[in-house]
Amino acid sequence: MQISLETLRNSPGKTFSYEFTQEAAVFDLTEDGACFDRPVEVRLEAVFRDGKFHVFGSMRTGLVSECSRCLQPFILHLEGQWEDDLPAEAVQELDVIGLVREMYYTTLPLKPLCTEVCKGLCSICGADRNHEDCGCDLEHVNDRLSEFKKLLLE
Ligand SMILES: [Zn+2]
Ligand SMILES: [Zn+2]
Repeated sequence: MQISLETLRNSPGKTFSYEFTQEAAVFDLTEDGACFDRPVEVRLEAVFRDGKFHVFGSMRTGLVSECSRCLQPFILHLEGQWEDDLPAEAVQELDVIGLVREMYYTTLPLKPLCTEVCKGLCSICGADRNHEDCGCDLEHVNDRLSEFKKLLLE
C-alpha cells in the first residue's frame, strides 16, 4: 500500500489510480471491537497539480452492527469518500492507512439503524414493533405522564 509521491511529482497533471482490498485490521479499524463481515475496498486517485497533491479516495466495507432502535444485529454497509489538497512541501509520504481511517470514522453512523423506518422496541412491553403490534398505547402513557407531572407541580 505504497503511493510514490515521487512518481506523482514527475508527472504533473497525470492522475494515478490505486486499489487496495485489505482486511480491516490492516487499517487498525478493529481496535474498538468492530466486527467486519468482509475486507475493506479502497480506491484512491492522486494527481500532482499546481504544487499540491490532490487526493480523492473512496472506501467500501460492511460490518456486523446492532440497530440502535430495535437492538437486532444487522450488516451495516459503509461507503465513504474523502477529498483533499495536500501542499507538496508538507507531505513526505501519503499515509494510506490514515486516509482510510479518516474515511471510516467520518462515515460510521453514531446511531446505526437496520432500516431508516425501523420502529424500534416498545417502551412499555419491550416488543420489537417491526414484528408485532403489541397494542400498547404509547400516546396514552404520555398523556398520563403529563397529567402526573401536572399533579406534582400543583
Ligand atoms: Zn432496527
Ligand atoms: Zn408494547
